[in-house]
Amino acid sequence: MAKDKGTSKTNVAARAEQKALASTCKVCGNKSELVMRVPSVGKRHMARLCCEKAGKA
Ligand SMILES: [Zn+2]
Repeated sequence: MAKDKGTSKTNVAARAEQKALASTCKVCGNKSELVMRVPSVGKRHMARLCCEKAGKA
């Protein structure tokens, strides 16, 4: 059987899918955009720009 071709194609597709899942925000479902916010007062923290855009911040 076409073991090599089939396997590599499947792997590429699976990898692309995993990558897409990893870069998708679990909160808003959009492409995750995390930034480090360093306010003049208070602790620095990670902010989700994707959620802010989606109005779920
Ligand atoms: Zn989000």
